[in-house]
Amino acid sequence: MTTTASTSDAPPRQIIVSVDVEDWYHGPTAAARFGTRADVAQALASTPQPERGLPYLEAALELLAARNMRATFFWVAEYARRFPAALRRCATAGHEIACHGLTHFPKFDPATKQPNFTPAEFKTRTAEARKILQNLTGQPVIGYRAPNAYIAGWMLDALEELGFAYDSSVSANSLYNKTDEPQLTGVDTRPYFPERGTLRRGTAPRGIIEFPWPYFEFPTWGRAIALPTVAARDGARALPVLKIQTAGGPYLRFFGSGLVLAGLRQSLRRGPTVFYFHPVDMCREPIPLPFSWKRPMMWWFKGDLVRRRIVRVLDGLQGRTTAFDELLKVGAETLFGDPKANKWSPQRDAAPTGETK
Ligand SMILES: [Zn+2]
Repeated sequence: MTTTASTSDAPPRQIIVSVDVEDWYHGPTAAARFGTRADVAQALASTPQPERGLPYLEAALELLAARNMRATFFWVAEYARRFPAALRRCATAGHEIACHGLTHFPKFDPATKQPNFTPAEFKTRTAEARKILQNLTGQPVIGYRAPNAYIAGWMLDALEELGFAYDSSVSANSLYNKTDEPQLTGVDTRPYFPERGTLRRGTAPRGIIEFPWPYFEFPTWGRAIALPTVAARDGARALPVLKIQTAGGPYLRFFGSGLVLAGLRQSLRRGPTVFYFHPVDMCREPIPLPFSWKRPMMWWFKGDLVRRRIVRVLDGLQGRTTAFDELLKVGAETLFGDPKANKWSPQRDAAPTGETK
């Protein structure tokens, strides 16, 4: 079904296809302020039948099946709990199921970088989310992606303690720094063992691997590029070259498939990399923004236009795609192209527990 991972010592040149399963009300348009306090209950209470993404999950499954692609589906657990049949369709189609948070609530405030949860609270919520997904599918969940990609080193430590084998949220990007660190030292697009307590590239093997997102690196002839506004505030200015994230998502919607494919191909030269999209981005129906008009531009690009962009990327990746759990089977040594990296098993501590609710 998928391309077989390389067994040589060279890092496998494969693109992991992933799908973030959430609806419009889990994202920043439903928030009072970007990235904060996205109130799912408020959206559900104020709009009858607010779901827009659900019918397009089937479209996502069809796009993948038509190309014989196996992917990783990162599910928001509360969405899975309300629509368990949809979750099970992804699992029975043979895709990996991974965790995209309990309610898609950001774990820290993007402006102040102050945590919205203690590490203990984060662990409790994430363990509950994993339990929901595991119990509904009967499959182990070993992967995590941070809601809105707001990721911090303390979150990776907690995920490791919970037995997650990997995270895929970190993005070195000149437009936004969605982490709580001023500089992502050593982070490019290759998977890595993070330094404990940080997102920086570490030197010691550990239980969790980070799969950072791809980017397109624009030539700057050695000069640091100082971008105004958001980038300056978030410290992304510290990047020595101009990097535009090309993992997909809103960047695919706004910038198109050409830049995304160029960035994926450029990142692929370093090693395995990641593509993702949201089924809700393909929805034709209007997004019922009932209680916030802060970021209406977020939905300027959606529907059939975005579907065509997703199709172009998937067609461009054909024959080179995989899912996270499949790629991890090669072991860290091969994955990193580093003979000193330890072998390790992705399956430990992640068996389904408890009863289905
Ligand atoms: Zn998300």
